[in-house]
Amino acid sequence: EGMKEIPAGPKGRHQTVQVTVGNVKVGGGAPIVVQSMTNTDTADIDSTVKQVAALARAGSEMVRITVDREEAAAAVPHIREKLDKLGVDVPLIGDFHYIGHKLLSEYPACAAALAKYRINPGNVGFKNKRDTQFTEIVEIALKNNKAVRIGANWGSLDQELLTRLMEDNAKSPNPIDARAVTREAMVQSALLSAQRAEEIGLPKNKMILSAKVSNVQDLIAVYRELAARSDYAIHLGLTEAGMGSKGIVASSAALGILLQEGIGDTIRVSLTPEPGGDRTLEVKVAQEILQTMGFRTFVPLVAACPGCGRTTSTVFQELARDIQAFINEEMPAWRNRYPGVEQLNVAVMGCIVNGPGESKHADIGISLPGTGETPAAPVFVDGQKFRTLRGATIAADFKALVIDYIEQ
Ligand code: SF4
Repeated sequence: EGMKEIPAGPKGRHQTVQVTVGNVKVGGGAPIVVQSMTNTDTADIDSTVKQVAALARAGSEMVRITVDREEAAAAVPHIREKLDKLGVDVPLIGDFHYIGHKLLSEYPACAAALAKYRINPGNVGFKNKRDTQFTEIVEIALKNNKAVRIGANWGSLDQELLTRLMEDNAKSPNPIDARAVTREAMVQSALLSAQRAEEIGLPKNKMILSAKVSNVQDLIAVYRELAARSDYAIHLGLTEAGMGSKGIVASSAALGILLQEGIGDTIRVSLTPEPGGDRTLEVKVAQEILQTMGFRTFVPLVAACPGCGRTTSTVFQELARDIQAFINEEMPAWRNRYPGVEQLNVAVMGCIVNGPGESKHADIGISLPGTGETPAAPVFVDGQKFRTLRGATIAADFKALVIDYIEQ
């Protein structure tokens, strides 16, 4: 009898219609795209250019900026122009609420400079007097050959639709839980708006859908349903994920499950930065979710054991941290110089228990000496013992070996 195979990896990707946003392909089997959003005042051109450039350099493949008023709409073409001069060609997405139709029609240069318009169906509806607003935005997108994201959000859900579904549910002989009705309203809000946009003439290959919720279980349920009922390209993200580790963990849990099921063509990790904190953290987290799950590779990641009572000193933690920081810093230059460098696996391990084994699985790995072990650190390259490092310069020597490995 043959050996039982333990399969690994995600289900196949949910098949969606591909959308091109600027120079980036989303859905239809394209690699999952990382995107982010600025938190600068868009009317402040220089600050916005600086932040968009930082997000793009960190690896954001599309960047969304809010276009909330006339000054912001007027600034958009200048932002585009300045980014182009800096050689930053990342597509810009305009985030519109309430008055998007007015801003896009009164500022045609803004409409032309953006690669995609985000519409919130919760505040630009279509089944009532606001229908003309929705139609206007879709027609401007058609005229400018731009993509549109129909982005429903739990916090600004279409209240008319929700009320109607709640009333229908109340009359039903088997009413369902109110929260489940809200989930249904989220899915319907996105899908009905998409259908309306198609009726106006916007083809599927110009439309991306999202239905963001801040609760992990609701988000998973809503996106599963959105994917089951349609083949529009999907923008995936947990909204209002929160600060610090909570935001990172909640986003990773929610996105991880959906990505494993093949759902999600572009992702955004919505973290609340610490005051004055680094906005690019959301890009790093999004990349790390995709990379640790095996969907994409962006930056070589250092595998390190957590350390325990067997680790004798802080050399091990310092080395793991130094190597990852060094790689992150050098990556922009290495990406051009050493094609494929992002595939590199480095291991930094604290003792002999798992050190040699884990190091052999890496391209280059080191097993530092633990308590009571001989003060020697074997280095493994491509699965073979390569050298043994000793003395006070182990960290610096290993770093030099990593650089040699990359250069070769
Ligand atoms: Fe502890 Fe060694 Fe395992 Fe690291 S490899 S956690 S030091 S036993």
